[in-house]
Amino acid sequence: MLKYNRILLKLSGEALAGNKEFGFSSDVLQSFARQVKEVHDKGVEVAIVIGGGNIFRGVSGMQEGFDRVTGDTMGMLATIMNGLALQDAIERLDIPTRVLTAVQMPQVAEPFIRRRAIRHLEKKRVVIFAGGTGNPYFTTDSCGALRAVEIHADVLAKGTKVDGIYDKDPMKFDDAVRYDTVTFDEAISKNLGVMDTTALSLCRENDMPIIVFNALEEGNILKMVQGENIGTVVVKK
Ligand code: UDP
Repeated sequence: MLKYNRILLKLSGEALAGNKEFGFSSDVLQSFARQVKEVHDKGVEVAIVIGGGNIFRGVSGMQEGFDRVTGDTMGMLATIMNGLALQDAIERLDIPTRVLTAVQMPQVAEPFIRRRAIRHLEKKRVVIFAGGTGNPYFTTDSCGALRAVEIHADVLAKGTKVDGIYDKDPMKFDDAVRYDTVTFDEAISKNLGVMDTTALSLCRENDMPIIVFNALEEGNILKMVQGENIGTVVVKK
């Protein structure tokens, strides 16, 4: 039994790098592709928002003297490279996949058109949203929230390198405790740091549940759509 039939999977760019500091790990790309195939084969409609942190982040660019908007534009372009890499990995498993970009690039990918995205999903094509929202000062988490709401996904599933939301940073504190469930209000007021406030409040306003889980553990995407308790769920109440 499937708990979710249409998912918006937010995959962090950082996770794509695997053990490297920068760029792609083909092991991670292939693992993501296998996991997407696994749920696609079960009939789940899969849309993906891909991050860019393995290549460039606007905020880190600023520290090196870049103008914020220029840096963010570079970050958005990074997500397009990641989108193409992921498409390639998924299509090697014979799953039809479309990259839709919010930054117009007709030679490279289709433009983002909401109705077209939904049509692709209905035709069981995997849709990859690249280019973020097309606007600076946003993150791909916020883009994930926006696209999840726009396509009427059942859930925003944030696949990252950690296995959920903790009361404090699990990389720094041994006694950090993972939440099974947390409310939007708690996640925002306690500043739990797993997603930015823009993403959280958009989901709160539109009643879009979020699941944060470790996408590097193979099989987790399937477990997640089957409703297994694999990470932290963020809900209204
Ligand atoms: N970005 C942006 N607008 C968006 C989405 C992303 O300007 O709508 C830029 C921003 O600089 C961000 C970078 O693209 O830092 C890469 O995205 P993100 O940091 O969210 O990637 P992830 O954390 O998932 O690797």
